[in-house]
Amino acid sequence: MSAPLRVAVVGSGPAGFYASDALLRSDDPPVSVDLLDRLPTPWGLVRFGVAPDHENIKAVSRAFEKTAARPGFRFFGNVDVGRVVSHAELLERYDAVVYTVGAQTDRRLGIPGEDLPGSWPATAFVAWYNGHPDFQDLSFDLSGERAVVVGNGNVAIDCARMLALTAAELARTDTVAAAERAIIDSGIREIMMLGRRGPVQAAFTPPELQELGELAGADVIVDPHDLELDPASADALEHDRERARRNVELLREFARREPKGLPRRIVLRFLVSPVEIVGSGRVEGVELVRNELVSERGRLAARPTAARETIPCGLVLRSVGYLGVELPGVPFDEETGVMPNDGGRVTGAERTYCAGWIKRGPSGVIGTNKKDATETVDALLADARAGRLVAPSGGDLGELLDERGVLFVDYEGWQAIDAAERSMGEPLGRPRVKVTGWDELLDTGRPVQSP
Ligand SMILES: Cc1cc2nc3c(=O)[nH]c(=O)nc-3n(C[C@H](O)[C@H](O)[C@H](O)COP(=O)(O)OP(=O)(O)OC[C@H]3O[C@@H](n4cnc5c(N)ncnc54)[C@H](O)[C@@H]3O)c2cc1C
Repeated sequence: MSAPLRVAVVGSGPAGFYASDALLRSDDPPVSVDLLDRLPTPWGLVRFGVAPDHENIKAVSRAFEKTAARPGFRFFGNVDVGRVVSHAELLERYDAVVYTVGAQTDRRLGIPGEDLPGSWPATAFVAWYNGHPDFQDLSFDLSGERAVVVGNGNVAIDCARMLALTAAELARTDTVAAAERAIIDSGIREIMMLGRRGPVQAAFTPPELQELGELAGADVIVDPHDLELDPASADALEHDRERARRNVELLREFARREPKGLPRRIVLRFLVSPVEIVGSGRVEGVELVRNELVSERGRLAARPTAARETIPCGLVLRSVGYLGVELPGVPFDEETGVMPNDGGRVTGAERTYCAGWIKRGPSGVIGTNKKDATETVDALLADARAGRLVAPSGGDLGELLDERGVLFVDYEGWQAIDAAERSMGEPLGRPRVKVTGWDELLDTGRPVQSP
C-alpha cells in the first residue's frame, strides 16, 4: 500500500473534526491527519460558544473523541498557525492543508458610542462565561437594571437567557465561577432583545425561543402590537418556512401570557435598530429608531422611520454576527470574511482547502459543518487521486515545534485536562469545572517539550 497522504487540519472545532473524520475514513488514498489548534484544548465553539446550560448539545464531543481514536490521528494544541508556524511551513510538511479556523471576531454595528465602556460584542461575553482563556480578565458590570441585547439570532437568545438564569439553573452547568457569581449577584431586572426586522424575519429557531418561555426566574414579554404583521410578512408566513410559522405561534402565546412577577423579564422587541449608544463615560442608554419593512431585491428589508426613543440601560451586548479573520499567506475575502473557495478548494492557493465557518460564513448548526466538511474532503481526495497533491519535502511538525520551544499539547495532554476538569466537576454535580488560565492549561496538558 502507498504511504498515507499527510494532511494538516487547522482548527479543531466541529468542521475540523468532521474533516478529520472524513479524511481518516479514506482508504483510496489512506490519510494521516494532524489536527492543530491555537488553544491547548479542542472542540472550538462546542467548548467556548454553545451555552453552558445546553449540555446535551455539547455532548457532540463524544463523536469527536471517536475520531481522535482513529489510527493516523494526532492533535497539536497551542499551535497558532500564522504566528508560531506559517502556511508555507505547513505546505512544506504536508500534502494538503485544510483550514477550519471558524470566525474569530465580531461584526460591528457602525454607530456612535459602540465602544463606550459597558458596550460589548456578544463574542466576548460568550467567551467569558464559557471559560475561554483569552477572555478571563474581562469584567462585565451587571449592576444596571436593564441590559440590551442587539440581534435576533440564537446567540442573542443565548446571551439573554444566560443573564436570566437562576442560581439553581447555573449550578448544574460548567459556567465559569466569576461569570456565575456575576449573574447571580447582578442588578439586572430586564433584558431587552432588539430585532431589526419583524417576527417573521427573526433568525432564531423555535426550540431556542421556546426555552425563553420556560425559565424559572424570568417572565418573557412580547407586545401584541409587535406581532401585527404587514401584508408582505403575513404572505411570507402563509407560504414560507416552518421556522417562521412556529416562531410566530410561540410569540403569540408569549404575548397572551400574564407575567408571573418573576425576578427578571426578557422583553422581545421587533422593528427597531440602535442608532447610537449614549452615555457620558459609560453606557447609559440606547437610542432606537423604529423601522418599517420594504421590499428590496426580493426580500423584506428594514427602513428607518422618523420615530425614535431612548432606552436607559447599563449594558449593551452586540450580537449581530461573528466574522472570519485573515490568516497570513492564505487568500481572504475582506468583504464576506471567508476564504474564497470553490467547493472547499481555496481559490488561488495550491494544496489548500477550507471548511466550516471560514468557508461559508457564520451560519448553521453544528451538524451543518459535517456536510460542508465532507464536500471539502471529497474535493481534496479527488485532487490526490488525480496526482495534483505533490509530496512535501519537509520533516515532522513536532520537530519544528520542538526546535522553536513551542509547548504543544498532544491528545494525551488534552485528555489529562479533560479528566482533571471532569473530576473537579463531579462532586459538585457539574459536567466539569473548566481550567481557564493559559499556564494552568499548559501545565495540566503536560507539554511535550520544556523551553
Ligand atoms: C455562541 C454560540 C452558540 C452556539 N450554539 C449552538 C448550539 O446550541 N447548537 C448548534 O448546533 N450550534 C451552535 N452554534 C454554532 C456552532 O458552534 C458552529 O456551527 C460551529 O462551531 C462552527 O464550526 P467551525 O469548526 O467552523 O468553527 P469553530 O467551532 O469556531 O472552530 C474553529 C477552531 O479554530 C481554531 N483556530 C482559529 N484560528 C486558528 C489559528 N490561526 N491556528 C490554529 N487554530 C485556530 C479555534 O481556536 C477553534 O478551536 C453556536 C455558535 C455560537 C457562536
